[in-house]
Amino acid sequence: MKFQPAASHFIDGAYVEDTNGAPIDVIYPATGEVIARLHSATPEIVNKALISAKSAQAEWAALSGTERGRVLRRAADIMRERNRELSILETHDTGKPLQETLVADATSGADALEYFGGLAASLTGEHIPLGGGDFVYTIREALGVCVGIGAWNYPTQIACWKGAPALACGNTMVFKPSEATPLSALQVAEILIEAGAPKGVYNVIQGYGDVGASLVTDPRVAKVSLTGSVPTGRKVYAAAADGVKHVTMELGGKSPMIVFEDADIENAVSGAILGNFYSSGQVCSNGTRVFVQKCIKEAFLNRLSERLATAKIGDPLDEEVNFGPLVSENQMNIALGYIEKGKAEGARLVYGGNRIEGDGFFMQPTVFADVTDDMTIAREEIFGPVMSVLDFDTEEEVLTRANNTEFGLAAGVFTNDLTRAHRIVAGFEAGTCYINTYNLAPVEAPFGGSKMSGVGRENSKLAINHFSEMKSVYVSMNDVEAPY
Ligand code: NDP
Repeated sequence: MKFQPAASHFIDGAYVEDTNGAPIDVIYPATGEVIARLHSATPEIVNKALISAKSAQAEWAALSGTERGRVLRRAADIMRERNRELSILETHDTGKPLQETLVADATSGADALEYFGGLAASLTGEHIPLGGGDFVYTIREALGVCVGIGAWNYPTQIACWKGAPALACGNTMVFKPSEATPLSALQVAEILIEAGAPKGVYNVIQGYGDVGASLVTDPRVAKVSLTGSVPTGRKVYAAAADGVKHVTMELGGKSPMIVFEDADIENAVSGAILGNFYSSGQVCSNGTRVFVQKCIKEAFLNRLSERLATAKIGDPLDEEVNFGPLVSENQMNIALGYIEKGKAEGARLVYGGNRIEGDGFFMQPTVFADVTDDMTIAREEIFGPVMSVLDFDTEEEVLTRANNTEFGLAAGVFTNDLTRAHRIVAGFEAGTCYINTYNLAPVEAPFGGSKMSGVGRENSKLAINHFSEMKSVYVSMNDVEAPY
């Protein structure tokens, strides 16, 4: 097997195996070939990982922020040095083209490690003066053992987006990747050790949803950060509530992108391509409901079709290729099923619509026009390369329709009218908004969703508040007054 790691799990600074766990075959989505065989964590492995994380935490938190930050920044450097090797692994794990993984996976993981490594030394409490010389000071404390549970679309990035702020604050982590893409988180764990992280600070265990569930309910766990679908988010949030644990929920979306008649059409088409077909459409914040003002609809669709015809679909390891397979046969079949629903419910297929025959899980980028708000393809998250184009007449109408969804992850507007752009963004019910661009997620900016799309924010300084808590200390400089 081409990408067989030393063992399935990485616990207490070393690879660990337990072949009693259910087998997990890792499949290269471009060929269907099995590239590694791992095992799901048994209860003994879950316990071992939690013991390791728990026993490492106090010592890690006792280091200065500068020392913790140094480890994270070294890890960022190692990731960048190994970017090509890590990108090749990520391409095999996910099927995403190397052209993408070289710039969007280990590199964005490294950005998170560098950013939170840089912040670690500046994390402090504050001094709050009170009357009569009394004062309060606050101590920013780590939460303890944090659990990270990841989706399969950005496995390296998710492992770092959760691990970096957790570790910067003095927590330790047990991370469970999606069973569909289990390989790269192991590399993140190895790199952290190489960068000087004490053993037990960042552990990785494999498994299906049941392993995630057993982590979430364990009383040793203080915080759960999940990237996944809304149905999984509901379950994990409910399970965490039982232990009143901290949570961050990065869930799914059905985000709107609005294109007004005064927009730069070329840029709007670029935004729609990025927001629907990057990573073969498997991006949570995708703008899959593209509202186009009626008078420019045909011009928009024509230009979109022309540009899609130039997409290079094929071997993801060929750096010229910019559109790869979906992550699994199952995910491809889900997306193809939605295409059938779109046709059956009367949407007009203007581009693509078919599977590309072969051993891999390839399908064409697909565009439907004349989509109406009540159609299934306009309401449900597809998580594949299927764009719905909807018409609109007025600003007021489109904003109401854009917000008419249970999701609230992202939203975008293309217009050259400055005041309209800000008016629309102010009205969007979404956590991550874009004006004249789409789907950028720099580590410096908060990322996350409103409504059913999530709780909390990743990245930026805000993530620190989700991985630490404040202890208030009241200091009296006076005698204690008691009533009797
Ligand atoms: P899932 O919700 O199916 O799974 C997410 C993770 O949770 C997986 O590791 C899964 O394990 C695990 N899991 C499943 N059930 C449970 C449970 N009961 N308790 C604990 N853990 C559990 O999502 P996908 O992996 O299919 O990813 C796609 C989804 O993720 C989409 O909805 C997408 O929008 C969302 N997403 C959100 C992002 C964001 O930042 N907002 C970014 C990327 C994706 P296993 O896979 O082994 O079953």
